[in-house]
Amino acid sequence: MRDKIISLAKDCCADLVGFAPAARFDKNDPVFKLMPEVKTVIGLGFRVLRGVYRGVEEGSTYYQYTTMGVENMEETILPMALVRISQLIEEEGFTALPQRRHQQIMAESDGMNPEVDFSRIWRGVKAETQLNFEDAAVKCGLGELGLHGGLLTDEFGPFVRYCFILTDAELEPTQIKAPHLCDRCGECVRACPGHALDADGKRDDWRCAVYYNGANGTKNPFMPPNALADFDDRLDIIAGEAKIDREKAKAILRELYFYPPAQHAYQCSICGRACDVACYVHLEEKGLLTRGFKKKFREREPWQFNIEDFKTKE
Ligand code: SF4
Ligand code: SF4
Repeated sequence: MRDKIISLAKDCCADLVGFAPAARFDKNDPVFKLMPEVKTVIGLGFRVLRGVYRGVEEGSTYYQYTTMGVENMEETILPMALVRISQLIEEEGFTALPQRRHQQIMAESDGMNPEVDFSRIWRGVKAETQLNFEDAAVKCGLGELGLHGGLLTDEFGPFVRYCFILTDAELEPTQIKAPHLCDRCGECVRACPGHALDADGKRDDWRCAVYYNGANGTKNPFMPPNALADFDDRLDIIAGEAKIDREKAKAILRELYFYPPAQHAYQCSICGRACDVACYVHLEEKGLLTRGFKKKFREREPWQFNIEDFKTKE
C-alpha cells in the first residue's frame, strides 16, 4: 500500500511523500487526540511554483502568488490529494483522517494568520485540535526547519505547502532529514519589509500581517502617497519601522487593503513572502537546491520606492 500511496500522491501533484511512525510523536501530541489509534502520519509536500513569486519580485503582478500559490493550493490541490489518497487507504480497509490547515480557526485568543483577513479569524476555539504542521513535516522527513520557522526542503527550499493523513495502517517510515540547509545566515530576517522576524527568526504574527499586506510603502505599488493619513507615525509605519501592537495592527490593516482579496478570506500578499524568497535565493546561491533551473531566480538588485514619496498627506 505504501507504494500505491506514493504513486497516487505523485498523480495528485504531491512532490514529497513521507511516513512518520506514531512513536515519533510525544504522547501528548495532537495526533493522538485527533486519532488515538494512529499508527502512521503521512506527510505530503507540494511545490509552490517558483514562477508565481516572479510578479512580486518584479513589482508587476501580485495576485498570482496569492491565488495560485496560496488559495488554489490550500483550497483545491491539497484537499483533492487528501481525499483521493484517503480513499485509497480506506479501500484497503484502514481508516484515514486527512489534515489540512484550517486557516481561519485559532486556539489562541490573540492569534493571527497573516494570510487571511484578520476580521475573518475565529479565535480561542479551544475544542478544535490542529496538528503542529511544521513539527509533523519534519517528523515525516519532508525537510528541516529554517531559522524563520518555515519548512525548507532539498528540492524547493521554502517554496512548499504541506498537509497530512493520519492512519491506523503501519507503513514503513521515512528517515528524518539531518538539518543541512539552514546556516542561520539571517537573510530571511533582513528581507522582511516590516522587521517582523527577530534576530532568532521568531515571528511577530501581527506585525507580519501588517507587512504581508503591504504596509511598507517602499515595496507596495498600490499604496497612495497619502496613505495612513490618520496615523501620527505614518512614515515610520510606511518605512517598516513603527512600534506596532495588536490593536494598532488591526487599525492599520483596516486602512491597508488596497488590493482585492482572493476567495476564502485570503488577502493578497504584497510582501510576496520576502523572507522565503530571500531564503530561496540564498539556498540557490549556495547550490543546495536539488531542482535546478536554467536561470537564477534573482537576476538584479531588488527594487524599492523612495520613502520621500510618501511625505505628503494630501
Ligand atoms: S534565509 Fe538563511 S537563516 Fe533564514 S531560513 Fe534560510 S538559510 Fe536559514
Ligand atoms: S517577509 Fe512577509 S511573510 Fe515574511 S515575516 Fe515579513 S511580512 Fe511576514
